[in-house]
Amino acid sequence: MEKNRQSAIEYLRNNREDLIERLGEFIRIPSISTEPEHREDVGRAAEWLARQLRSLDLQEVEIFPTAGAPVVYGSTRSEDPKAPTLLVYGHYDVQPVDPLDEWKGDPFEPRRQGDNLYARGVSDMKGQIMAALNALQAVRQAGDLPIRFKFLFEGEEEVGSPNLYAFINSHREILACDLCLNPDTGMLGPELPTITYALRGLAYFDLCLRGPSQDLHSGSFGGVIHNPAQVLCELIADLHDENGRVTIPGFYDPVRKLEAEEREDLNRLPVDEDFYRKTAGVENLWGEREFSVSERVGARPTLEVNGLLSGFTGEGSKTVLPAVAKAKLSCRLVADQKPAEVAEQLERFLQDRLPDTVTWELKQLAAAPPVLSPRDSKGITALSDAFEAVWGKRPLFRREGGTVPVGAYLQELLGVDSVQTGFALPDDNAHSPNEKLDLATWFRGMEGLTHFYYNLGDHGSDSGKDSGR
Ligand SMILES: [Zn+2]
Repeated sequence: MEKNRQSAIEYLRNNREDLIERLGEFIRIPSISTEPEHREDVGRAAEWLARQLRSLDLQEVEIFPTAGAPVVYGSTRSEDPKAPTLLVYGHYDVQPVDPLDEWKGDPFEPRRQGDNLYARGVSDMKGQIMAALNALQAVRQAGDLPIRFKFLFEGEEEVGSPNLYAFINSHREILACDLCLNPDTGMLGPELPTITYALRGLAYFDLCLRGPSQDLHSGSFGGVIHNPAQVLCELIADLHDENGRVTIPGFYDPVRKLEAEEREDLNRLPVDEDFYRKTAGVENLWGEREFSVSERVGARPTLEVNGLLSGFTGEGSKTVLPAVAKAKLSCRLVADQKPAEVAEQLERFLQDRLPDTVTWELKQLAAAPPVLSPRDSKGITALSDAFEAVWGKRPLFRREGGTVPVGAYLQELLGVDSVQTGFALPDDNAHSPNEKLDLATWFRGMEGLTHFYYNLGDHGSDSGKDSGR
């Protein structure tokens, strides 16, 4: 395999202009998922991608319609029945381009300047999809495939993947795999290859407190009627203690402890308190003091008040005692918390705390479990070794504070871990005017994925997952 590996890497080095050209073709299709007038373009991007998969001589390639944008699926033959199956996830839709006048050129006509390629979607994430496909092409022309590949490309990520869960759920058999690669999380700098091994989950709630049957005159009723806005504020004040910890009983019980080695790695990340102060425009930070900022954002759960509504909020004054007080509350969750369990804990907390002077209703609006891939899983080891081969150093290991639903869906529905990475840089202007891709980093990334594919083959058939398929 060693000879094949070299020949695959050489192939990538010898065909750079062609690979940029092909990415350009993909870029020219304005597949903006949120704009109905681009519906056809979204479909065209799916077809273009399916053609790419066919040209890679995949065994099966299919475009599946969904209630929204189609899903493009493909799988390679299994040349070695013991080889692991890697599912590559991606999204071929892009963000809108406005404000258009801030772009230095047509957003859908790739423009090269130095080592950068400018266009909408070039970084997020058409370039990332092509990096994965180009690496496969390089491996394919070098000889037998070291692993089996499957591809799952959706066209609705930028609008929240409304049909992805149902799709994965109803196609579990064809999607069965040993691990998933999601190259949509990027890296922290051109010299800082990054593996994101955990994502926080989310539990989102709408809380409504009702007091009197209508808004009342505070002169006639103040002192007799319990004001729901006051009840809500007292409740919210009770949700954290003076050390910034959430006070809901049991909230932290399932939270997985950080090992010393993991803490060390998290604290190697090039984000410090200053970064948060500057980016947020505040003088002082807040939160659990015994954890660093990287740990607090990646490895600790939170509870936030996302919105508050009650009483009179217009200009001037109105002496009203409001009938209703509402709050939007949400928790970012970490392994091994479960959104349903958190909902129960919050419900119990409300039962215990809220006085009988108000009635209340709690609705859960969203739930996504956290995901965490063991850092010593074979998939992550294979990727880490691959990046080390290209960059000459161990990658950064990051826990991401946000929520990427696909990772949770794959874990829940297929029982597989995801390895999150990618070659987008923090200054790529994703979602903004003049989005760009650093081509030098892109090519290094492609070589990294090539090594990754071979490493997975070398590491045997149980990569990333304890049990068989
Ligand atoms: Zn993306």
